[in-house]
Amino acid sequence: MDGAAPVVIVGAGQAGFSTAAKLRDFGHAGPIALIGEEASPPYQRPPLSKAYLLGEMSEDRLLLKPSSFYAQKDIELLLSARVERIDRRSREVVLADGRAFPYARLVLATGARPKTLPAAIGGELDGVYAIRTIRDIAAMSGAFRPGRRALVVGGGYVGLEAAAVASKLGLDVTLIEAGPRILGRVAAAETSTFFRELHRSHGVDLREATTLASLGGAHGRIDHATLGDGARIAVDFAIVGIGVQPNVELAVAAGLETDDGVLVDAHLATSDPLIFAVGDCASFLWRGQRIRLESVGNAIDQGEAAAASILGRSEGFAAKPWFWSDQFDVKLQIAGLSSGYDRVVTRPGAGAARSFWYYRGEELLAVDAVNDGRVYMVAKRLIEAGRSPSPELVVHADDPKALMAGPA
Ligand code: FAD
Repeated sequence: MDGAAPVVIVGAGQAGFSTAAKLRDFGHAGPIALIGEEASPPYQRPPLSKAYLLGEMSEDRLLLKPSSFYAQKDIELLLSARVERIDRRSREVVLADGRAFPYARLVLATGARPKTLPAAIGGELDGVYAIRTIRDIAAMSGAFRPGRRALVVGGGYVGLEAAAVASKLGLDVTLIEAGPRILGRVAAAETSTFFRELHRSHGVDLREATTLASLGGAHGRIDHATLGDGARIAVDFAIVGIGVQPNVELAVAAGLETDDGVLVDAHLATSDPLIFAVGDCASFLWRGQRIRLESVGNAIDQGEAAAASILGRSEGFAAKPWFWSDQFDVKLQIAGLSSGYDRVVTRPGAGAARSFWYYRGEELLAVDAVNDGRVYMVAKRLIEAGRSPSPELVVHADDPKALMAGPA
């Protein structure tokens, strides 16, 4: 690509930001437009269900960079600006207000949005919230008052984190999970058990294998929930954390290949070689299967890899999955991806620390480290190097560093 050619990035979240910043770092001299429909400059989402929701973090600290960064780097940041369509023939994107931005390369970093409950079962009542944006948190700011009754629908990480915050702030919290156990899609029974006990020990009324029949209320505002087992519980508000769906509509309308995400190759290129996709919206090949990763680390790494691809210096994207979650006084750090495991080994740690090691046969796939930063660091290095210490060593080695010494 000509070094002065324009790059347009749709979506000013973590992945769009990373792409823009890396393009400049790698020396791209042409125009870069970073177009986002939210009103805020790019910010981190993880604190929205953690420190920011708890009121322990200011909005300024959410921002990935101060506003001055974009002028300094000559990145044209357009906020409150929604891209309505991509015209692949004329190579431009068109905004809702009719403005058009020509591109030599286009990057889709449109992220994902929360799945919602149908209106027919009360999903659109006032007091039913999701957690994805700063605006979502502003909308529920008055709700987190001691003594109020919160219902959390969904026992994934976002739901559990929100439940922990609400409980810490003195609310009366019920969390329901439709599956047989919390974290059932992403973690082993050992990790689920640990977090179930943690929440219950803090007074969260955590109910698994419990579906929601409907939310109900008066004058358009939620005041109760009816559960699948017929139980009716009084609630002041509900937080729905039942997963996300990728924002693929622009890509679909432009005729790009999609399937639960925008399909990309090893260089993050879509089925149109001039268009790339990164972050939560991108579906890539991992061990022979297509996956999307919904994590900060992936958004950063894919942004960097797409920038390299655009500038013709790509070595291909190699995913290094990692994730974390904060609940009460517990920090969970996850290295690798556990899907496909057939065995889990528990490594005890000092005090409340412990870690769960996922194997498929002899191969180490992933580690969930609870309050054990040292073990997490070692596990991450092992997994990224493709090394698998024996389960016996994992359980018995006193010093985590000894795990690095095991056979490759
Ligand atoms: P997003 O951050 O969703 O950004 C996409 C942006 O594109 C949005 O601003 C959207 O409005 C905009 N957009 C979409 N369509 C258009 C359009 N047509 N025109 C203009 N703009 C558009 N990850 C972790 O690793 N650890 C955690 O602990 C963790 N906790 C989380 C907690 C919460 C509450 C949430 C919501 C997420 C959490 N994540 C966590 C996930 C992580 O935040 C996401 O994976 C990451 O933000 C994805 O970045 P992205 O840029 O792909 O998408």
